[in-house]
Amino acid sequence: MTPTLADKAKQVVQTLRDKGFEAYWAGGCVRDLVMGIPPKDFDITTSATPDQVIQSFKKTIPIGAQFGVVQVRWMGESFEVATFRTESLYTDGRRPDSVQFSTAVEDVKRRDFTINGLLYDPFEQKVIDYVGGVADIAARIVRAIGDPEERIAEDRLRMLRAVRFASRLGFRMDDATFQAVRTHASAIVVVSAERVRDELLRTLSEGGGHTGIRLLYETALLRWVLPEIETSAHRIDQLAAMLTHCRHHDPPLALALLLYPLNDSAIHKVCVRLRMSNHDGRRIRDMITLSKQIPDIAVLDTASHRRFLQNDLIPDAITLHRIIATAAEADLSAARRCELDRQTLIDHNMLMPQRLLSGHDLMSWGFKPGPHFRIVLTAVEDAILRGEVKNPEEARAFAENLLKCIP
Ligand code: ATP
Ligand code: MG
Repeated sequence: MTPTLADKAKQVVQTLRDKGFEAYWAGGCVRDLVMGIPPKDFDITTSATPDQVIQSFKKTIPIGAQFGVVQVRWMGESFEVATFRTESLYTDGRRPDSVQFSTAVEDVKRRDFTINGLLYDPFEQKVIDYVGGVADIAARIVRAIGDPEERIAEDRLRMLRAVRFASRLGFRMDDATFQAVRTHASAIVVVSAERVRDELLRTLSEGGGHTGIRLLYETALLRWVLPEIETSAHRIDQLAAMLTHCRHHDPPLALALLLYPLNDSAIHKVCVRLRMSNHDGRRIRDMITLSKQIPDIAVLDTASHRRFLQNDLIPDAITLHRIIATAAEADLSAARRCELDRQTLIDHNMLMPQRLLSGHDLMSWGFKPGPHFRIVLTAVEDAILRGEVKNPEEARAFAENLLKCIP
């Protein structure tokens, strides 16, 4: 039988133990196992120092050796193997000033939440719980390990992580942890835009977005991570309803729902501030713009109508439109019509009609290039979209006719 990911993760532990080191599975994978969810990756924690880990395996990449993290390549898989460590003094609320290698207990105590602070011995098949994580999983609670105020002061990102895990897992936040987040919400601004963006988008798009938006609002984090959007209780209800219908694991789509009421330049600013890639930023803006035009397509002339439907982002725009309309229990006929029109064009092979004419053709017939070329070529394309021009001969006749009228 081919070894599973878990088998391989067990072999990595075995290899370290054979050399006399302590080693366990740790963090998210143990939480998932206890919850009966198959882990998507296995992190390993060990008493071996990074140098010792590097010596124990043939292929390693020291991804964060100064923090004690080495990536081990094993049977075609990658595992993060981290040395037991204590992190001390976070003077900037973002990263530790130094790390010391330590013991399994100490390592668990530096982790963020009890549910993330479990170890697992794959040979004894035993969960090792120094922090009460098993009970909190059973009670479905996200609780900081130790004093929530201190843990948040160390690393402000943990505020967003608490919201993310509560949303994704459908857990509630422990009262003291919740209060600490609410008290310190404004301090989220010290965290880098990239880390905030990643947590925010995961919170909205990993299936618990409706809980996520409520928790972001109730903890006041939303005001600091997305000050541009309206955050009345009513608006949050609306967004929560939309996010329930947003089961697409598509982070830009989720963000588009939040940014929908803003104008294009405001949306652009938010995307830049959150350091979204150009591709994602463009996609968000275009799907919103197109989506807002969907109700008006019935009044477009044939060529403009087809040109609109040609856009690659129309399916996204329809999805966005549908989610918003469904959440508002509003009329879906515009979205349906748009979808149907596009499908009809696809079925008739008419969505992207062949280009029948280029500027080179016009030149080869002796016309001098200039700004009028664009006008003529667009007019020919429109005629093709209307179905009035069907082949290169008709295209040529149409173009020559037009060019004759241009001085
Ligand atoms: P996911 O399934 O979302 O990857 P995860 O629990 O594996 O969940 P990661 O962000 O991959 O989360 O982090 C792995 C582990 O490292 C966590 O379970 C937690 O123990 C620890 N950890 C990660 N980030 C922090 C942090 N900011 N502060 C403290 N501990 C952290
Ligand atoms: Mg993980």
